[in-house]
Amino acid sequence: MADVDLDVLQRWLRTFAASVAEQQDTLTSLDAAIGDADHGANMDRGMKAVVEGLAATPGDPAALFKQTGMTLVKSVGGASGPLYGTLFLRMAPATGGAATLDPETFAKALRAGLEGVVARGKAEVGDKTMVDALTPALDALDTALSSGASLADALRAASAAADEGRDGTTPLVARKGRASYLGERSAGHQDPGATSAALLVAAAATAVAE
Ligand code: ADP
Ligand code: MG
Ligand code: MG
Repeated sequence: MADVDLDVLQRWLRTFAASVAEQQDTLTSLDAAIGDADHGANMDRGMKAVVEGLAATPGDPAALFKQTGMTLVKSVGGASGPLYGTLFLRMAPATGGAATLDPETFAKALRAGLEGVVARGKAEVGDKTMVDALTPALDALDTALSSGASLADALRAASAAADEGRDGTTPLVARKGRASYLGERSAGHQDPGATSAALLVAAAATAVAE
């Protein structure tokens, strides 16, 4: 099975940047309902900066993840900047410095990233955040890989699970971030960060399938 190399990872980031640009207005209007209407602009600014940074090609996946994480922390701002930044920064050491990542190592790196998000943001599943899309996605990824699925198929399963997790945020009452200021009134709206996180997982599936 093909491993994940720098080309695939750069394609992942470019694909995510393109989806964020395309969905920018949707992300912002979701954030307008339960936050401060900047999630689309925040993520678009950050991912454009990440893509610009790809011109100076990092030497290995760890360097790429570190550069991506630092760029997101610097350029996104708000709650999501440090959280998405942490996701990538924590992926870096989990690669063990390898030039290409086998599917298990890629999954392990993503898991380390999610653990970083949880450690930093203290959100649990059900708090109506990006964690609600990422957690079921990475669970589905692990399950598929351990039952022998190809990485492409496993990421497709992960993407479907992320979409379900994202949709599942709608009835929830937010317990973290700005949306939590609304209390019960946050229910009935899809979480913007879970929406962008589902795009991140979908982009990985696309990048690996190509
Ligand atoms: P801000 O709320 O600072 O304007 P954004 O609008 O860019 O930042 O991002 C909001 C998203 O960040 C939320 O929809 C949610 O998914 C995510 N988020 C906020 N706080 C947390 C947290 N503590 N843990 C995980 N995700 C969070
Ligand atoms: Mg916001
Ligand atoms: Mg904001």
